[in-house]
Amino acid sequence: MGIKRQLMDIYRRLYAAFGSRNWWPADSAEEVIFGAILTQNISWKNVEQALATLKAEGTLSFKAVAGMGEQRLAELIRPARFLNQKARGLKVFAGYFGERYGFSIKRMMKQDMGVLRDELLNLYLIGPETADSILLYALEKPVFVIDVYTKRIFSRHGFLEMEDSYDAYQRFFMGNLLPDVKLYNEYHALLVHAGNQFCKPKPNCTPCPLNNLRKSST
Ligand code: SF4
Repeated sequence: MGIKRQLMDIYRRLYAAFGSRNWWPADSAEEVIFGAILTQNISWKNVEQALATLKAEGTLSFKAVAGMGEQRLAELIRPARFLNQKARGLKVFAGYFGERYGFSIKRMMKQDMGVLRDELLNLYLIGPETADSILLYALEKPVFVIDVYTKRIFSRHGFLEMEDSYDAYQRFFMGNLLPDVKLYNEYHALLVHAGNQFCKPKPNCTPCPLNNLRKSST
């Protein structure tokens, strides 16, 4: 089986086992971006608490963040840890979003994906995984998000090495899958779930839906 078919076979196995993951859990595109910035180095539970506080205070919008002091913002996102960096990250994004797109997600979605990616990667606290999460889950651009679970699963099955770069992994997926927002959305979410449930530092292969998967190079 060629790589393209194997990738779709893996996707189908995961989907059959777990069903749709309904990602990203958020009520709006802006909330996705807040979550993508806040989730760095912490669990999603903490992110939810920070988002709930922002929501309760009526400040879950970048317009509100732009008009707020960094100290006040850090207090509101307290459960998200690394408060000063994350408050700065949200403020910097708010400044960029306001100046460049007038706080309009619609306007941002109209921008070319490569231009957006470069812009995002130039912002404070936004690396490739965060930028791509924003592009895919908030702006519906067909870019494949790579994370540690993706690397673990695909290196353990011999497709790439764990040490290979983010870009190498992304090229592998995007070179072998059609540019399909829905597929990329679901595929990444399924890999995160498989990693969370089974492909931990010590893998639990017996009950994993990928347990008899072999890589073939033909
Ligand atoms: S837990 Fe085992 S079978 Fe499942 S993805 Fe990881 S290495 Fe593969």
